[in-house]
Amino acid sequence: MRFDIITVLPSLLDSPFAHSILQRAQKKGLSEIHVHNLRDYTSNKQRSVDDYPYGGGSGMVMQIEPFATCIEKLQSERTYDEIIYMTPDGETLNQSIANDLSTRGNMIILCGHYKGIDQRIRDIFVTREISIGDYVLSGGELPAAILVDAIIRLIPGVLSDETSALSDSFQDGLLDAPIYTRPAEWRGHKVPDILLSGNEAKINAWRDDQQLQRTQERRPDLLGDNEQ
Ligand code: SAH
Repeated sequence: MRFDIITVLPSLLDSPFAHSILQRAQKKGLSEIHVHNLRDYTSNKQRSVDDYPYGGGSGMVMQIEPFATCIEKLQSERTYDEIIYMTPDGETLNQSIANDLSTRGNMIILCGHYKGIDQRIRDIFVTREISIGDYVLSGGELPAAILVDAIIRLIPGVLSDETSALSDSFQDGLLDAPIYTRPAEWRGHKVPDILLSGNEAKINAWRDDQQLQRTQERRPDLLGDNEQ
């Protein structure tokens, strides 16, 4: 799986992919992440990528040409399954979108800044628009990093315990059960006895029950028609 991220702030994306699971996925050859500086695709001396909005109003708008040049160069080298624009008015990212995108091969991700990007880039090139939530950030880099993280950890072989992504919150429509590790007692606070019992069937039943209880309390919306 290959990601090509187009941004005016490439250095902002140095760190998120250089640690832990995301770094390991790249080292194992399971994913490639390429970050492109949009300013390398400008034809003007100032390397500017934005201009005033037609019709007036506040804020600058990112221009078509640099994005188009970069996207078309990438497309001349390989085919892409998706060209994604990170934007607050896109579909809100959730586990099922991440699952869906984890089956794709090559993806381009566009990061906006200022007021956003010229609508024609969206109309002509973009195949999918994704938001990370109902709030506005100053740029698309952190949203892009979040999207890439959510997708890469689902690629088979990336997580050391392959079943662990499947038991995370949302995968089965439920939140995760409470988790504990040593010590068994800390300042009088004990780990539930059942987890120390060694009885796998009972532990699994307890976890199922806890998942349901937690989901009922915190996210009854996830239970939908099954709501009790
Ligand atoms: N004028 C836009 C916001 C622009 S914010 C609007 O009102 O919808 C600048 C850039 O940050 C956007 O182009 C987008 O790439 C990114 N961004 C901001 N908030 C985001 C969010 N919740 N999800 C995904 N991308 C976001």
